[in-house]
Amino acid sequence: MALTGLQIQKLLPKTNCRECGSNTCMAFAMKLAAKKAEIAECPYASEEAVRVLGAASEPPIRGIALGPDGTLKIGEETVLYRHEKTFFHQTALAVNINDTDSPMMIEKALKAVRDYRLERVGEKLQIDMAAVTHAGEDIDGFARLARKVWETTRRPTVLRSSNTTALKAAALAVKGSRSVLATATPETAEELRVLAKENDHVLAVTAPDLDGLFRCTSKLRETGFQNILLQFQTTSLAEEFQTNSTVRRAALKDSVKPLGYPFLRFLNNSTDFLEIAAGAITEIDKYGGICVLPVFDPALMATLMTLRLNIYTDPQKPIQVEPKVYPIGEPRSDSPVFVTTNFSLTYFTVSGEIENSGTSGWLVVPECEGMSVLTAWAAGKFSGVSVAKFVKEVGLENQVSTREIIIPGYVAQISGELEENLPGWKVLVGPQDAADIESYMKMLKSK
Ligand code: SF4
Repeated sequence: MALTGLQIQKLLPKTNCRECGSNTCMAFAMKLAAKKAEIAECPYASEEAVRVLGAASEPPIRGIALGPDGTLKIGEETVLYRHEKTFFHQTALAVNINDTDSPMMIEKALKAVRDYRLERVGEKLQIDMAAVTHAGEDIDGFARLARKVWETTRRPTVLRSSNTTALKAAALAVKGSRSVLATATPETAEELRVLAKENDHVLAVTAPDLDGLFRCTSKLRETGFQNILLQFQTTSLAEEFQTNSTVRRAALKDSVKPLGYPFLRFLNNSTDFLEIAAGAITEIDKYGGICVLPVFDPALMATLMTLRLNIYTDPQKPIQVEPKVYPIGEPRSDSPVFVTTNFSLTYFTVSGEIENSGTSGWLVVPECEGMSVLTAWAAGKFSGVSVAKFVKEVGLENQVSTREIIIPGYVAQISGELEENLPGWKVLVGPQDAADIESYMKMLKSK
């Protein structure tokens, strides 16, 4: 169980020396209880306190590292809602391949997993994993396909079979990839634990209900094995939503350690893409660790990745681009100069629309703490004074010969102040909406 501030305070030296940055030991204890500090910040904590609090501060959801170098991480979450802090490790998206699929289908899926790229607000997104399902009878064929998937994609793979002999063959075939063996039941858990441990893979565990799953993972934990994923047996979207939420809450709020592991979900194959999308969206929104899609569809993948990017962005830290002057296209010294803020979405929208308008120009992006234009202006981070200061600091006047600068239409009110602080420059008020840049540039050229 999580310790309260009062319980933690009893373990601290109670000297109120302030070296941890808190005014009192009690204040520090409250921070520890809220998981906003670590016991290591108190240099005088006893060994007993470190031991007790170390165990209590173990992440409520265990982090699981996948892939040969462990770069694909899932779990290690500490909050129920992203506005409380942030979600750390996004739901890994995988595409399933059946060993009974035609060679053409297999090649198509492999190519998608290996080559798919989506660029969104400067982030290059790709498919995290493939899954191989043993849908036929051929054990060697399943293992060969697992090997082929691993060699082609070089991504960790989810190996799925109800046949332990087939899982053994596949686990050996992809040894070194730190993949997932799916799925152990209470009857096969011990045998597959040994297999996962010997081959350095992660083991997904299931049971007909949460009590059974709790007992199964408790037994695995007793052996010291912790590379566990939970797979729930649910029959509807509502049950998926409810079970994911219940287990996450139990792990976070009640410190139920045997349920403190990331989830693995295989979505059912369906001809209804909305049904697949609803299942995947539920996983991304509600705590999924790995979500295996039954097929690859580019529109679905782009939708899910965009949603995931939004959910797994720290809400307290807007995505920002580096403040500087960006060349758009191939600008010359007399090309037009635009200005906007360093909020990533704003930058990519504006730069994209300048490019789409067929204009080469310079985009001045001052430091605005990642806020959008109106927010930055309202917060005093995007004013005539601050833009002028930035223009001077980056030496724009030496870089370009033009003395016209186009500001966003939403902040027309800073034009006077900007002209005052940038002597010799003429401030032009651009469109409010980036989508109107093209027509605005046409209008400028026609003058
Ligand atoms: Fe108390 Fe330790 Fe903080 Fe000092 S450093 S105030 S002893 S918790």
